[in-house]
Amino acid sequence: MNTLSNKKENEHLDPVCGMVASSEIPESKYQGKDYYFCSEHCKEQFDANPEEFNG
Ligand SMILES: [Zn+2]
Repeated sequence: MNTLSNKKENEHLDPVCGMVASSEIPESKYQGKDYYFCSEHCKEQFDANPEEFNG
């Protein structure tokens, strides 16, 4: 039974804005983890201050 998963398996969340990332290719890496973003703008924010969005 699936109660709470409308989420597609290949979707990745943008850690900056919380939206589903548009790309399936990781655009940034931080402490060995891959991160995906909805836009270049969010990637820039993450890269500027990854600790704020990590976790
Ligand atoms: Zn975003």
